Amino acid sequence: MIVDCHAHLGEDPVYEKAQSVAQLLARMDRAGVDWAVIQPFARPVDIVAQRRVIADAVAVHPDRFIGLLLVNPWLGAAPAAITRDLRMYACRGVLLDVEANAINLRRKETQAVFEATATAGVPVFLHSDHPLSRISLSLAEQLDAVAPAFATVPIVVRSTIPALGFAARAHGNVYLDVHDEGSHQGPARAVRRYGASRVLFGSNAPTHHPYSRRAVVEAAPLSDGDRAMVLGGTAAALFGLSRG
Ligand SMILES: [Zn+2]
Repeated sequence: MIVDCHAHLGEDPVYEKAQSVAQLLARMDRAGVDWAVIQPFARPVDIVAQRRVIADAVAVHPDRFIGLLLVNPWLGAAPAAITRDLRMYACRGVLLDVEANAINLRRKETQAVFEATATAGVPVFLHSDHPLSRISLSLAEQLDAVAPAFATVPIVVRSTIPALGFAARAHGNVYLDVHDEGSHQGPARAVRRYGASRVLFGSNAPTHHPYSRRAVVEAAPLSDGDRAMVLGGTAAALFGLSRG
């Protein structure tokens, strides 16, 4: 089972990108990807429309897509509302867009999101546009403070966040999306340090094609078992996918 943990749907007015359901499915098929974890593009307004893009795609293709529920903690995010919205939008995880929504993991507004995901038993995906952005530069430090307080919540973050190593080594609930690794050595290094059960293949489609990102993992010096975990096993466990 091959799972792309990071793909976008809809339109991005900031970077002028777009990806339709049909385009993503075609790219997944070209890359031999069975499932994609989908999220909207970063936009500062209209969270309902962004959620609908994801829910509608999951409704039509429940056997190909796993949806993430976009939550903006600054708009108010009571745990009960998040639990309800996860069901309403048929999502299996929560998305925090750290730059678009200027997230601070340590604030009480964000802590409420982690409380909800702990109750719901779903992961949190921290989406970062660039590892050197203002917020990404402090993300490892923020994770070091928050991950142990919510030790049952898997937190997925891009592997290229500066200084992520100390947080990932200290906290077993920090998972690494290796979509941004430029070399096939990157996924192998992540597996050596943290174990394949915490490393996930992602594409960040449409910025990258899942075919080219999968090739990086295929070329990485990994055992067959570890490669299968990175390409899908880890995500399947995180998002509760059954084999078949
Ligand atoms: Zn992305």
